[in-house]
Amino acid sequence: MTDTPRRIMIAGNWKCYKTAAEAVQFIQAFRAYPLAEKAVDVALAPTFPALDAAVRAAEGSPIRVAAQNVFWEPDGAFTGEVSVAMLKAVGVGMVILGHSERRQYFGETDETVNRRLRAALAGGLEPIFCVGESLAEREASRTLDVIRTQIEGGLAGVDESSADRTILAYEPVWAIGTGRTATPEIAQEVHGFIRSELAKKYNKSLANRIRILYGGSVKPDNAAALMAQPDIDGALVGGASLKADVFWGIVNA
Ligand code: PEP
Repeated sequence: MTDTPRRIMIAGNWKCYKTAAEAVQFIQAFRAYPLAEKAVDVALAPTFPALDAAVRAAEGSPIRVAAQNVFWEPDGAFTGEVSVAMLKAVGVGMVILGHSERRQYFGETDETVNRRLRAALAGGLEPIFCVGESLAEREASRTLDVIRTQIEGGLAGVDESSADRTILAYEPVWAIGTGRTATPEIAQEVHGFIRSELAKKYNKSLANRIRILYGGSVKPDNAAALMAQPDIDGALVGGASLKADVFWGIVNA
């Protein structure tokens, strides 16, 4: 039995950019492109205050809206956090988790990423779970160990059917927002490794179904070469997702 081919996903991570009005403006401009003609899934991750407006602006289009984080408790005295139910109430269906900026600047660990991931999955959100090594870790030849630990920690206690609803993103920290992209070969090596780890943890068929996105200075002119690699199933895009024409250039590539 052959597995169904994995559909490409291009997800834009808007980080701490764009007000609700700016998010709506982007989505209206982006909807003018012939998105439905492309065999590509598209998701956009605005800031929390822009999610509601973004969901409404994307209604009736193939664009999916993702949050950039979610908390594991349903509610309570947790200042600054947002729950799964709160995201779902405004129509959000996806969430980015474990982004390196969360790990680097906000103390996110494999354990907290895992708690968020399990809550997201239990509540029916589709997570984009990010892993990636720093420059120092790559230079010390520790890349694959770091990725293995992040996968083990992040997916601890996640069963097969939940893993089936998870998207992974490999984002080498040294390539995020730096203009330095991993070559397609470097990225493929790690993507292949991630898939083999998933096959070991779950099984080969599940590993072959899970989408693994690449992130790190993806642009219209390097997207096609990255997507041509056998284990790269799309992109998580930061800087180049902020302008509709540039982001379309990546989807179109
Ligand atoms: C990101 O934020 O996930 C990212 C990959 O950023 P950039 O595309 O700007 O490197």
